[in-house]
Amino acid sequence: MRKKIVAANWKMNKTQVEAAAFISTLLLEIGDMADVEVVILPPFTAIAKVNEALGNSQNIKVGAQNMHWERSGAFTGEISSTMLRDLFCRYVVLGHSERRTLFGETDEIINRKVRAAHEATLRPILCVGETLDQRERGNVEKILALQLRGSLANLGTKELQETVIAYEPVWAIGTGRTATAAQAQEAHAFIRHTLSKIADDATADKIRIQYGGSVKPDNAHELMEQPDIDGALVGGASLDARSFAGIVKAALPND
Ligand code: PEP
Repeated sequence: MRKKIVAANWKMNKTQVEAAAFISTLLLEIGDMADVEVVILPPFTAIAKVNEALGNSQNIKVGAQNMHWERSGAFTGEISSTMLRDLFCRYVVLGHSERRTLFGETDEIINRKVRAAHEATLRPILCVGETLDQRERGNVEKILALQLRGSLANLGTKELQETVIAYEPVWAIGTGRTATAAQAQEAHAFIRHTLSKIADDATADKIRIQYGGSVKPDNAHELMEQPDIDGALVGGASLDARSFAGIVKAALPND
């Protein structure tokens, strides 16, 4: 059984005061829920504040939205894995489509970051996904396979198992246009199939694959009850603590 993982990608939003207020409300809404792994991904400047606000919470973890592949050096404006560990981060998002499109990140760059994250015992949340044009041309599987093979090159079985994949169709990010549960399941099943080729069936079976793209409290349950959807990476709807809590609750196992 793969434990569901629901993550809040705040992107370039929230000051320290706003971040602390969000965590207080979230704790009131979901407490320290053990059945779902919850990850908060603040901007770098609010990571320490989120940790402080979380106090002794065991099941809500903190991560970052990006990092550099080197541990230190002359890279003005960058943040390293060592610095993220120093802030008690457990996860790092890599290869988000905004980084690929707006900051020119290639699969090769993302692969360097993925390997650097594992070296620092940070778990990557690796984002993959096709554009609308690629979907309309019938290239979804080709693009997903290229991104997965490129970004996950030269990883061992244990590292693969500890990587979370986020399937985020670019046309669904921030657009209000969600993939249908069937479209998302089809892509997730293909991703798991590709992971079994990269590694083996047993490894692929353990890797968690989140869906991301306009997830909201009212569509989250249907998406996350699909057999290969193991959680959600949430952008817009993660900025409001009650709305994010609704998505976390939608990930609870059915009794
Ligand atoms: C994201 O950017 O990772 C994302 C999924 O955004 P949204 O939920 O706003 O579509």
